Amino acid sequence: MPPNKQTILIVEDEPSLIFTLKDTLENEGYDTLIAENGKDALKIAEESPPDLMILDVMLPGISGFDVCKKIREKKLMFPIIILTARDQEIDKVTGLNIGADDYITKPFGVKELLARIHARLRRSDNYAGKNEIIRLGDVTLDLNESVVRRPDGDVELTTREVEVIRFLSNFPNEPVTRRALLENVWRYEYTSNTSTRTVDVHISKLRTKVEMRPDDPRYLVTMHGVGYMLKIS
Ligand code: CA
Repeated sequence: MPPNKQTILIVEDEPSLIFTLKDTLENEGYDTLIAENGKDALKIAEESPPDLMILDVMLPGISGFDVCKKIREKKLMFPIIILTARDQEIDKVTGLNIGADDYITKPFGVKELLARIHARLRRSDNYAGKNEIIRLGDVTLDLNESVVRRPDGDVELTTREVEVIRFLSNFPNEPVTRRALLENVWRYEYTSNTSTRTVDVHISKLRTKVEMRPDDPRYLVTMHGVGYMLKIS
C-alpha cells in the first residue's frame, strides 16, 4: 500500500479498461480520477493535479501525445505513463520525447503496471530515505547506496544493475522473462538490436556480486526457458 493516499488520473476511453484500472488502483489504495477524453484530462490535470497520470495515446479528440505536451507546457510535472498499442515503437520514442516518463504496451499485466506506477511515484517523491535493503543470505543489497555488502567486502553496483534488482524484486520468487527485463529496465534503449543476450550478460555479472558462489546461484536463479527469478525468503 502507498504511504499516503495518492491520486492517479486515468485517461482512457475504453470502458472495460477504465473499469479494470480503476478497480486495480483503488484496491491498491490509490484514489482515482477518470477522464475519457483529452479535453477533460487537461481540465482535471490543471484544476486538481494528480500524483500520476495514466494516459492512453488513442483518444477521441485531442490525442494522448498532445495532452502530454500541453501538460508539460503548463509546467505540470507529475509523472505520466503512456499506454500504447503493441509494437508502436515510434510512439514510445515520441512519448518519451514529449515529456512522458514511461510507457506501457497494451495488453499489459496489472502487476507490471503497478510496478511501473510504484517506481514512478517513488522517484517523484524523492524517496531517497526509503529503505531499499534486500537480504540474500549473508549478502545485503543496499539499493539506495548502490552497494552489495558481502562478508568478504563491499562491491559497487552500476545504475543498471540496481534497476535490474529493483525490477526483479517487484516480483519476488516469481519468474521474470528476459523480454520483460529488456522492456522495463532498458526501456527506450530497447530496440531490435538489443538482444536478450544483453540481459544474460548483466545477470552473469550481477551474480559475481550478489552470489557467494556465482556458478551455483541460490538467489538470482535461471528459470530455464523463461528467464530469471529473485529468490527472497
Ligand atoms: Ca483508446
